[in-house]
Amino acid sequence: MTSALREDEAARLLGDLVALRTVNPMGRPYHGGGPVERPVIEYLERLFAPFAVSCRRISASPIHESLLVSIPGRTAGPAALLEAHIDTVPADDWSDTAFTPRREGGRIIGRGACDDKGSLAAMTLALADLLRSGQRPASPVLFLAAGDEEYGQTGIKTFLADLPTPLAWAVFGEPTGCIPVIQHKGVIRWDVSVAGRSAHSSRPELGRNAILDMMRLCDRLAAHEAALRARHTNPLTGGPSITVTTIQGGRTRNMVPDQCTVAVDFRIAPGMDGRQALEELQAAITWPGLSVSHSPPQCLAPALNTSPDDPLVARALAACEQHLGRPVAAAGAPYCSDAGWIPAGAPALVLGPGDIADAHAVGESVAIAEVMQAAAIYRQLVDG
Ligand SMILES: [Zn+2]
Repeated sequence: MTSALREDEAARLLGDLVALRTVNPMGRPYHGGGPVERPVIEYLERLFAPFAVSCRRISASPIHESLLVSIPGRTAGPAALLEAHIDTVPADDWSDTAFTPRREGGRIIGRGACDDKGSLAAMTLALADLLRSGQRPASPVLFLAAGDEEYGQTGIKTFLADLPTPLAWAVFGEPTGCIPVIQHKGVIRWDVSVAGRSAHSSRPELGRNAILDMMRLCDRLAAHEAALRARHTNPLTGGPSITVTTIQGGRTRNMVPDQCTVAVDFRIAPGMDGRQALEELQAAITWPGLSVSHSPPQCLAPALNTSPDDPLVARALAACEQHLGRPVAAAGAPYCSDAGWIPAGAPALVLGPGDIADAHAVGESVAIAEVMQAAAIYRQLVDG
């Protein structure tokens, strides 16, 4: 492997990517002229234009698109997938300098520097370096610069629905401190509503108090969480969790409330099936006479469950140890990522520069040296 990764190139690329605004509206009204990700997609198309690769835009919706860069391998056959996302969370709380990247103490600071443009830059650097070397990778490489990871995950889902070639393995760039995350939880979010009967609050016996029913239901959610945690233990990620995140109910101060709705965030552990877990939960929290209804899931993202014994994990650990210069162990994470969508059969892991604590925060930053290390690790992985 000949490699000529350069720090000034990394810093310039990352700065350019941060300066190109690709803010996901996250379900709020969007007034942009084209897909959120378009500025970065046009930039990457220009960057890869001198090389013998194919670049294809994949539309996920009128406001989101991804770019797929395909690099032929020395042999045909299943492809390696590198994926990082282009969209960022908004910067409403950091409007002054979020998109004017600064370089300070070896770090680039700006919205998306860590999540996820550090990984996007590192993958781009690794592949540009490979292409400049004139060598072909062992097997074909697909590089998906994905749209809409932060809200609907429509970028990865659209790509996988029409997969151009089977996958051998996949690496998803997200801030993990360049440690391979081989398992993470999945998440299901939806609303639970309880209907009661209104009455004058001086005669509560004439009504049915939906808030009181909801309190009992929340007790049942807690009991179900305890039962699930006893059944599903995972040393890397921790067990499942059920969190009520919003509540609204009642109409006026002097009426028995006839309705109450909570939003539920249900984190499933690796190995749990989301649909089945949801059905089981819904059966466990009801009782005769309760009028309960469930909205369709706003989000149902699978867990990632790669075996520690998979050869991809050994290769990733060896590459990380070589380029970080210290022992590295495979890790798990409580959050979820696009990696959970990879079909069983192709091992996947999450690995990228930066600290998840910096993601989505004011002053978000990433170390340029870490972006370089990630680029070297990706380069070694695709060289096979
Ligand atoms: Zn991310």
